[in-house]
Amino acid sequence: MQIRCPTDLSAEEYVRTEAWKFIVVVRCPIHPNSNCRITRHGTYPRTIPEGVKILRIFCHTGNITFSLLPDCFSSRLPGTLADIEIVVLMAEAVARDLGCDCSPATANRILSSPGFATAVAEAGVGQKLFDLASDFRWLKRRVESVIAVLSAVAGLFPETFGNCRPTLTSFRTVLVGGPVLVRLRSVAEPRLHEIPPPVGLTPRFSRPQEMVRRPP
Ligand SMILES: [Zn+2]
Repeated sequence: MQIRCPTDLSAEEYVRTEAWKFIVVVRCPIHPNSNCRITRHGTYPRTIPEGVKILRIFCHTGNITFSLLPDCFSSRLPGTLADIEIVVLMAEAVARDLGCDCSPATANRILSSPGFATAVAEAGVGQKLFDLASDFRWLKRRVESVIAVLSAVAGLFPETFGNCRPTLTSFRTVLVGGPVLVRLRSVAEPRLHEIPPPVGLTPRFSRPQEMVRRPP
């Protein structure tokens, strides 16, 4: 299972500083009221950006491993939340130009429009993100995922986001100025396991293959 690893580091800073080597977990995040014995349990790699390692922790009391996903990274999708935010904001801007909402029903029209290709070309994104943003399926999955995330968050936190539409532009009016997806990791922390990827985390204990038993 995944646990949030709160951090202000960007993905590049996380890699450059090899931050996974310095993460200290003092209390078991799964059983915060127990005095579990917890130990480091290796790392696993992520592909984008190159060199990322995600720390695993083992709770000896519950015989469970969990991984610590830093806030900058998307869950269940390669890459970073910042990259996803850039391309979805572009899609929303093109949708406004086309006079439509950015929704699963309009995603094909938006992402295949000349205006979107122009926006990507003129945005000055790095070569890697430019290549990804030229992949229609990659884009469509991210646009649809973000709409699903924002819809879920609005439903779970109606007092904060109840008046928002499921767009980053709308959420930015509440989360003034900052990136939305990364900040939702902290704002929505109590309910992260009820929110879909790329912001939400793997549901607790619903995937038995992620629970590792110690050998007898
Ligand atoms: Zn524990």
